[in-house]
Amino acid sequence: MDEAHHIAADFADGAAGARLRYHIVTYGCQMNVFDSRRIGQSLRLAGYEETADPVMADVILLNTCSVRDKPEKKVLATLARLRPLKEARPGTVLGVCGCVGQQHGQALLDRVPYLDLVFGPDRVVEAAALVEAARGGARLADVARQSRGDHAFAPVDPEAEPGPTAFLTVMKGCDKVCSYCIVPYVRGREVSKPVALVLDEVRRLVEGGVREVTLLGQNVNAYGKDLACGADFADLLAAIDAVPGLLRLRFVTSHPADADERMLSCFGRLRTVAPYLHLPVQAGSDRVLDRMRRGYTAAEYLDKIAIARRHCPDVALSTDVIVGYPGETREDFEATLRVVEAARYDTMFSFKYSPRPHTAAARLEDDVPEAEKADRLREVQSLQDRIGAERLARFLGRVEEVLVEGPSRAARTRGAGAQWSGRTATNHVVNFAARPGEPPAPGDLVRVRITDVLAHCLAGEPCDGAGGE
Ligand code: SF4
Repeated sequence: MDEAHHIAADFADGAAGARLRYHIVTYGCQMNVFDSRRIGQSLRLAGYEETADPVMADVILLNTCSVRDKPEKKVLATLARLRPLKEARPGTVLGVCGCVGQQHGQALLDRVPYLDLVFGPDRVVEAAALVEAARGGARLADVARQSRGDHAFAPVDPEAEPGPTAFLTVMKGCDKVCSYCIVPYVRGREVSKPVALVLDEVRRLVEGGVREVTLLGQNVNAYGKDLACGADFADLLAAIDAVPGLLRLRFVTSHPADADERMLSCFGRLRTVAPYLHLPVQAGSDRVLDRMRRGYTAAEYLDKIAIARRHCPDVALSTDVIVGYPGETREDFEATLRVVEAARYDTMFSFKYSPRPHTAAARLEDDVPEAEKADRLREVQSLQDRIGAERLARFLGRVEEVLVEGPSRAARTRGAGAQWSGRTATNHVVNFAARPGEPPAPGDLVRVRITDVLAHCLAGEPCDGAGGE
């Protein structure tokens, strides 16, 4: 029996239980992670339970991303792997949601005859109803968009948040027109969640044990532009900052053009706003930035960083960089290296340019040879490796407040010692051994003296005053 038939046989055996089960595979960004939780919540309310094993599932959903790599290929390959499961038990609902679902809609259903359901990110709120319709025999694609004035979001379920940290979508979509980006096409125009609703959700999360909330939005600091009340992102941060019991507030992703002094002064001014800013620069050449339609120059970008550092000198910075954008010369690329050197990021996410359908850049000649893109990527990454290591070294000997998330990976996988793991306010991972008889609990703030700086994380030991909040 080949592997596919083994899986199919297991599946037929394992599906004897009465309760319906769902399994969600999530690709891409934190917003997709958040959406998957909302889909799960919608299914649980409809009586389903989650299973980590697709073989046991009555509903399998792929929550997809089309921002990077070859998403469609990846989804089709995963669907092909799941085909034996579907054939062993045709009643299983197989669905694709997220950006690839939005992008291809009915065409995906037409192309994959064993696929039952396709829906877009704006239909998450109706996930259970769509799954039920598919279970009833309908093959359907629903990629209808939420209108700009419709501020309905799938509600947050505090019980679904597994630890002391939680994501919370506060706006979705994007009104920018970056030439390479498919987000406006698949996620639509900006829609903000009303302030009162966000506050209510943060309060409920905190009551449920969450201590750190990360606000999510494709262009999160454009929050409020579509709201009649006039509140902007800085107002939202200030309102959330007043929620008792919340220890830390983070947010991603901010656009440099929308990062003004009011917003940047929140670092160091508001109690809970953690000193960590993800501010994608994408390129350091003004010519390339202009062709990317980013809406700022390298000098303006570096000014924003200077403002953030003026308000909070220890703020940790991360960024996104694309190398090999159409027409990018060696000189343009060297301008990117100069910005990376000047900004001194803690971390960087870097990518080789590749065209995305429905984007303006896809109409340009992708003229930087692949080998040259790979060389540039290596070069910018090795520069950042050096800067990142220098930045990390500043923590040696410092005492940091670490928000405990749980046992460290080593403790979980190898049972190694009483190792705990958490994050500094700057979002750096710290592993530490608890004092004998004083194991911390997830959500505790523990003072840890940093004794070791490793490649990508810190290690330390609790110092006086350690303990829960
Ligand atoms: S701001 Fe971000 S999400 Fe919006 S178009 Fe530009 S890259 Fe895409």
